[in-house]
Amino acid sequence: MPEKAKIITVTGGKGGTGKTLVAVNLATMFKNAGKRVLLIDGDVENPNTYLLMNGELENKAPVYFFKPSIIETKCSKCGLCSKNCATHALLHVDGQYPIPFLTVCSGCKLCYKICPEEAIKEDYKTIGWTYETKKNNMDLWIGELKPSEARSAAVVEALLDNLKELLEKEPQKYDIIVLDTAPGAHCDVELLLESADLIVPVTEPTKFGKLDLLRIIELIELLGKPYKAIINRSSLLGFKEKFLEELERKDIEILGDIPLDDEIVQSYCQGDPLMDENSNFNKEGEGYKSFITIFENLNKWIREKKTASMEGA
Ligand code: SF4
Ligand code: SF4
Repeated sequence: MPEKAKIITVTGGKGGTGKTLVAVNLATMFKNAGKRVLLIDGDVENPNTYLLMNGELENKAPVYFFKPSIIETKCSKCGLCSKNCATHALLHVDGQYPIPFLTVCSGCKLCYKICPEEAIKEDYKTIGWTYETKKNNMDLWIGELKPSEARSAAVVEALLDNLKELLEKEPQKYDIIVLDTAPGAHCDVELLLESADLIVPVTEPTKFGKLDLLRIIELIELLGKPYKAIINRSSLLGFKEKFLEELERKDIEILGDIPLDDEIVQSYCQGDPLMDENSNFNKEGEGYKSFITIFENLNKWIREKKTASMEGA
C-alpha cells in the first residue's frame, strides 16, 4: 500500500537559531534523494523560506477572519452576546447596542449563533494571505500575517486546512512534508507541532538556547510527539561538548550538529540552499558534511519509526 506523506516539523524555542535554514536544507536533501517534497512556511509573522531559496511570493489568496457586525435595527440590546463572549470582545452597557472590540475577538462566532434576534451579521476581514509557489523542484506554501493583525494562528490554520484538503484529495501527492514554525511555544507553533510525525527542534549552544530548547521540548512532550534536536553553530566559542553533556543528562537525543561555516553564511546571503544538488558549494566543507550526517540520521530515524509502527500493527 502506498505510504502517506511523512510530516517533519522544524521548530526552535527561540528566534535566530537557524530553523528556517535547517527546514530549507532538509527539504532540499529529500528532493535531491528523489522524494516529492512540500515545504510549508508557518512562521507567518516573518516568512522567509522563499528568500532562502530565491523564490517569489505567488498565487496569493486572502485569509478571512470572522468579525461580528451588529444590525442595530434588529438588536433588542439584551446583552446576551456580551455576557457569553469568552474574550470580552463585546462591550454592552444597559440600554445600548453592543460594541465589538475586534482586536480581542477570537472569531468563535458564538455571538452570531446565540443572538435571539439574528441581529449579528456574519462579516469577514482579511487578516493575512497564503501563497503557493514552486522552487528548486519543490512545492512551497507560505503563510503571511497582515501587518497590524494579531491572529497569526488563523493564518497557520488556513495553511493546515489547505494541507488537510490536499491530503484528502491526493494522499500520495508528496513523500515528505516539511513544516517550518515560528520561534516560541505559542498556539500557532503548537498547531504545527501537533500535525507532525517527527519534530526537529533547532537550538544553539548558549544558555538562552538551552532554556528555550527545554521550553519547546516541554510542549512537544505534552503533545506526545517524537523529537530529536539539532545544535546549530555548534562550534560557537567551544561550548559544544559541555552543551551535549547537558542534553545527554536530560535524555535529549541529538540528530546532529552544524558548525559555524562560511559557506552556510554565503548560501544564506545568496538565497542558494547549501545542499541543493545544483549548487557549487564545497562538498567537503564542514557545514555540508554536517548536513549529510543529519540527513543520514534523520532517514535512519524514519526507518526505525516505520519498523516500530509495522511491528505494532
Ligand atoms: S444578543 Fe443580539 S439582540 Fe442581544 S444585544 Fe447582542 S446583538 Fe443585540
Ligand atoms: S465571535 Fe466569539 S469572541 Fe468574537 S465577539 Fe463573538 S462571541 Fe466574542
